[in-house]
Amino acid sequence: AHEAAMAARSKDNLRSPICCILGHVDTGKTKLLDKIRQTNVQEGEAGGITQQIGATYFPVDAIKTKTAVVNRDNSFEFKVPGLLVIDTPGHESFSNLRSRGSSLCNIAILVVDIMHGLEPQTLESMKLLRDRKTPFIVALNKIDRLYGWKKVDNNGFRESLALQNKGVQNEFAKRLSDTKLAFMEQGFNAELFYENKSMSKNVSLVPTSAHTGEGIPDMLKLIIQLTQERMTGSLMYLSEVQCTVLEVKAIEGFGMTIDVILSNGILREGDRIVLCGVDGAISTNVRALLTPAPLKELRLKSAYVHNKEVKAALGVKISAPNLEGAIAGSRLMVVGPDDDESDIEMEVESDLGALFSRVEKSGRGVTVQASTLGSLEALLDFLKSSKIPVANVGIGPVFKRDVMNCGTMLEKNKEYAVMLCFDVKVDKEAQQYAEEQGIKIFTADIIYHLFDAFTKHMAEILEKKKEESKLLAVFPCVLKTVGVFMKSNPILVGVDVEAGQLRMHTPIAAVRQNAVTGVKEIVSLGRVTSIQREHKQIQGAAKPGQASVAVKIEMGGHQPMYGRQLDEKDTLYSLISRPSIDCLKDYYRSEVTNDEWNLIKKLKPLFDIP
Ligand code: GDP
Repeated sequence: AHEAAMAARSKDNLRSPICCILGHVDTGKTKLLDKIRQTNVQEGEAGGITQQIGATYFPVDAIKTKTAVVNRDNSFEFKVPGLLVIDTPGHESFSNLRSRGSSLCNIAILVVDIMHGLEPQTLESMKLLRDRKTPFIVALNKIDRLYGWKKVDNNGFRESLALQNKGVQNEFAKRLSDTKLAFMEQGFNAELFYENKSMSKNVSLVPTSAHTGEGIPDMLKLIIQLTQERMTGSLMYLSEVQCTVLEVKAIEGFGMTIDVILSNGILREGDRIVLCGVDGAISTNVRALLTPAPLKELRLKSAYVHNKEVKAALGVKISAPNLEGAIAGSRLMVVGPDDDESDIEMEVESDLGALFSRVEKSGRGVTVQASTLGSLEALLDFLKSSKIPVANVGIGPVFKRDVMNCGTMLEKNKEYAVMLCFDVKVDKEAQQYAEEQGIKIFTADIIYHLFDAFTKHMAEILEKKKEESKLLAVFPCVLKTVGVFMKSNPILVGVDVEAGQLRMHTPIAAVRQNAVTGVKEIVSLGRVTSIQREHKQIQGAAKPGQASVAVKIEMGGHQPMYGRQLDEKDTLYSLISRPSIDCLKDYYRSEVTNDEWNLIKKLKPLFDIP
């Protein structure tokens, strides 16, 4: 058995590590990828570099050639058969390369613009890499923009730096130390790659230029080095199938297809496969395993080559029946001869279930909708760390029923009647319904933009609440009427403040006993809209012991009238209520004196407040 195990680990069975490129927009991720893919014109087919579905494969010989300038003495030993680099840089691919919370991306390049330092998406990427425990190096890109940089195309970085004048070297040193400090603030120890003594403790910074190609040989060598140091041996050998759906696409002549990254094992035509769909697990049979036709064969009938079987690691397009509703980011499992298909279906569905069950138990929270399992997971992680509760989650475009679901929050917690939609389309009818109902829909394809929008929304709500509370806050007062100048619409009376303070906008009421029935009646008069003393408007409050004031009281509806519903002899009070008392407690505690709290206590029975 031991021999068999050893044989299974022969060199032919090694598999290549998978590499993702992440970083802020415009740092040069695409350009770097283009540059390392670039065919050497003399070499023709570029030493076996192959374009796959969603990824580019670099056989080790191509990498050896590309790193020759920084491995002149051949002392660096290559052990991996090659490197699979994912073609679409960014969060999306990285977070979709997932399996049960861990990443199938073995190694990553985080691209930072040396002129800009760490930017919001850099921080997001770092968080993702840290959460998924993915080893990474940092490409400190655009070194050719250092003022006065003299280039040597595709050179090793150390040699190129040595050729620069003092001014360039100083600027580089300054930016390097700024970058190291910025990484330190994020909890990472970062070192220039040739000064890094421990790749397991420190992140390596490798300066690059995607324009001149300088530093790219170093970057490739480092990626291989880090892989060989950090990937456990077993990971590099072919074993059971590990596969993830990166994209779901309709293709002419094939119908709905899925683009997958096979990170381990072997896939064969006719295999029974199970993956996650919006309506539960999808079980189907592989009809075709497609890879792009080499350039010279493109004039043939199809753009694709059919494969009987494919080996990890690679990107491949799968054509099969019933793929509508397949979800990107889903695991793909193969049903083996001894497997129970329904067990596998349950396991695959649990990926989606695990995310859907991460909603708030109280049922209070925002609604989250994302395009893929990976982005949904990343978004939920992000909201959790930002302490934003989530009540509903969904996958795919936003339809009216999703908005209606979110709308239940209008009654429970109005501020959570919000949909945070990541990289999904919003149906027209859904948008219109949301506007009618007052449900906010925020869409973005960058997570922190969503977060910013939501934070702003919450701040606005708080501001509005304070504004509303201004009218709700009622300071207690007792007024004695000394003269009635207008009986109604508006009421204009002269009063003495006997207790408390009389403020603008205070609601005023009289409390009387019905002459016939003897029942207590609260006669609401409206709010104070003007306070004058000796014909001058008072801005602050009128208090006991001060001269009488003339008070105007107005009411929106039908105002009671002196001589009818009330009498000059009636004492007037500020009309307090439970909410008004709570509001004073919440927002105005520091402005209410002890005497006033006592007055409130005295007035409470008058207005039947328990
Ligand atoms: P991405 O958004 O990270 O994929 O960035 P791109 O690869 O699209 O590059 C953004 C811009 O930066 C483009 O205008 C590139 O030409 C430019 N750029 C990328 N890398 C370099 C570099 O090394 N040096 C210079 N000077 N410009 C670069």
